[in-house]
Amino acid sequence: MNDQADSKDFEDLWNSMVPGADVNWETNFLSESQFDEKVFEELQLPEPYVSGAPPCSTVPTITDYPGVHDFQLRFPQSSFAKSATSTYSADLNKLYCQRAKTCPVQMVVGERPPVGSLVRATAVYKKSEHVAEVVKRCPHHERTPESNDGPAPSSHLILVEGNRQAEYQQDPNTGRQSVLVPYEPPQQGSEHTTALFNYMCMSSCMGGMSRRPILTIVTLETQEGKVLGRRCFEVRVCACPGRDRKTEETNFRNAQEAKTSAKTATKRSLPEDPQAGAGAHAEGSKKAKSSSSTEEELFTLQVRGRERYEMLKKTNDSLELTDLVPPSDVEKYRQKHNSRGANRRERDSSAVEPKKGKRLLVKGEKCDSD
Ligand SMILES: [Zn+2]
Repeated sequence: MNDQADSKDFEDLWNSMVPGADVNWETNFLSESQFDEKVFEELQLPEPYVSGAPPCSTVPTITDYPGVHDFQLRFPQSSFAKSATSTYSADLNKLYCQRAKTCPVQMVVGERPPVGSLVRATAVYKKSEHVAEVVKRCPHHERTPESNDGPAPSSHLILVEGNRQAEYQQDPNTGRQSVLVPYEPPQQGSEHTTALFNYMCMSSCMGGMSRRPILTIVTLETQEGKVLGRRCFEVRVCACPGRDRKTEETNFRNAQEAKTSAKTATKRSLPEDPQAGAGAHAEGSKKAKSSSSTEEELFTLQVRGRERYEMLKKTNDSLELTDLVPPSDVEKYRQKHNSRGANRRERDSSAVEPKKGKRLLVKGEKCDSD
């Protein structure tokens, strides 16, 4: 696009700003780098009622806290479909979404909070070594305003879509950015209220999140800022939410299953345990039965030896890649292949290799999961 023009504008802007004292993000930067000392002063303030930290604490609290109102979040049913722009994994408590796309988050309360209560969304880095740093957009996405932006300051990662009452705040002490909307009770006949979040930068953006996993903290607060409830979930902003969710859930289940099978193996080696054998059999037949269902279902295979594992993984990677190739291209490949050597047994459909992007795709599948 017009990146060159953008960077020219940006340079001009930068040059015109630097000599003056009123450089916003320079002051932000300074307050960030100095804020370690302030942390402890802030934290020593007595906080009478909230069990966690005060609402604007420098190191944000990320423990779930339903509170007396039983505050909870839900996510609409979502699939692994490649077209999904946002999808939530309950196993991983993780939302996968495309940049600048609508992510509906449903809020449920057991008991209605006081009139005038607010809902705040804040992004923080998940790992403790990054948590002190404020999550902001990368320089590129900060200087490319979009229609979603509305009244939001361009450095904010999380926007609330379609809500004119959304208020964007930056904490004067910590520089942390958050978005605040009035809590709306559910409409008649509904259990929940929905907020539409947009994440305006990719997890992989250099100079921004730079592949560091983030959490979104959603708090229910009184007008005075007292926290009534808190819920957190991880977020990955990526190009293929469905695919990444599938990959990460598979990895997660493999790890779980490896643990379980290690336990089962120990059990089975004991001579008198009729339960273990029966259990394993039941599990096996269940797997076989479900193999006929949808192709989006996930299965785990235990493989003995790295060599075999690598071989089977290669086959599976190829099949995954085949899914990414448009059917017309696959057809073209088959025609070409058939005309070359009709009955060459050693190649089967799993050997289809797209010409472009293979390395990138394989690499991309395992990023950020650590
Ligand atoms: Zn970005």
